[in-house]
Amino acid sequence: LFKKVPTAYPVIGEHIEVIDTEFDLDAQLADGEFIIKTLVLSVDPYMRGRMRDASAKSYSPAFTLDQPMNGHAVAIVEKSNSSVYKVGDYLYGMGDFVNYAKMSEAEAKARGMEVRPDIPTSGLPITNYVGVLGMPGATAYVGLELVGKPKAGETIYVSAASGAVGQLVGQLAKTQGLRVVGSAGSDEKVAHLKDIGFDAAFNYKTEDTDAKLTEFCPDGVDIYFENVGGAMLETTINHMNLFGRIIACGMISQYNVGNELYGVRNLIQVVAKRLILQGFIVSDHPELDAPFREQVTKALVEGKFKYLDDVVDGIENTPEALIDVLQGKNFGKKAVRVADP
Ligand code: NDP
Repeated sequence: LFKKVPTAYPVIGEHIEVIDTEFDLDAQLADGEFIIKTLVLSVDPYMRGRMRDASAKSYSPAFTLDQPMNGHAVAIVEKSNSSVYKVGDYLYGMGDFVNYAKMSEAEAKARGMEVRPDIPTSGLPITNYVGVLGMPGATAYVGLELVGKPKAGETIYVSAASGAVGQLVGQLAKTQGLRVVGSAGSDEKVAHLKDIGFDAAFNYKTEDTDAKLTEFCPDGVDIYFENVGGAMLETTINHMNLFGRIIACGMISQYNVGNELYGVRNLIQVVAKRLILQGFIVSDHPELDAPFREQVTKALVEGKFKYLDDVVDGIENTPEALIDVLQGKNFGKKAVRVADP
């Protein structure tokens, strides 16, 4: 349950609470109603933005106090009185952070719940469907294609590169013939980046970003896939080439600092270098879902893309999983495995 609006990092027991309630699996189902069992939940950085006062407007709705939080999830239909959602169907959409839920067809539609016959047949882990094949994967694809407009031979730099979005950005860019450089917050994460095909990677916590960008991007940066913001953005702007593109995907370093936002001081370079600095929100671009899913599913099934999930078991561990992501303690896409099918 969402209990209280945090001013910095959320605290379990104060801002998020885990409770036990009864769920009647034998409840009568009205026409069109069905019961889902949650299999996997996604925890994502943007959820911090939803832990706000409902009066503050943003691109995704605030969580409701004293109600379950929600996010992208894979669930299976357990019981059904619906001809659309049948027993055994795998669903992907916005699910509450609960083990079981009763739903009407209208509610499922409002939550974007799609029946996904590919989930049980692809042979890929179910967790992939909230990560590399879910919202974060789509974010990598949309940001790169729509804003990045990559061209073979260019150099792309990806921050938070070992995370849910970053891992795929680098691999998609490699397929398009780019030189790919990434940064991450531990040596283990950096080793993973090299393992999945990044040309170069560095630990921004122990090494100097400015010096590493000079070394690894000798011809400058044409595309910056921005996940972090703050000082990382400021340093990278200094390395951008003329007509470079900054894909403003997220700025996680700024999500838990309250009013102490970092003031980027060199934005004037956007003018002189004719940079494009463009934000985007993945949910605005459902038109790219089909090509994204087709390309990435194929690459995963053929073993051409590698992707690390960081999976924790048990719905009761969801709050900690979310806080881990906000604090950079995840290694790969963080997901919560709630139940087996
Ligand atoms: P990740 O899986 O990458 O997890 C977040 C990572 O951010 C951490 O593991 C950490 O890795 C890194 N990080 C860097 N600086 C900080 C900091 N100051 N505090 C905490 N963590 C930090 O997350 P996602 O891949 O899901 O998301 C990446 C970005 O994309 C986020 O900014 C997110 O908000 C954004 N996003 C945007 C969407 C859109 O539609 N525009 C949709 C989905 C995500 P490290 O150890 O390397 O520092």
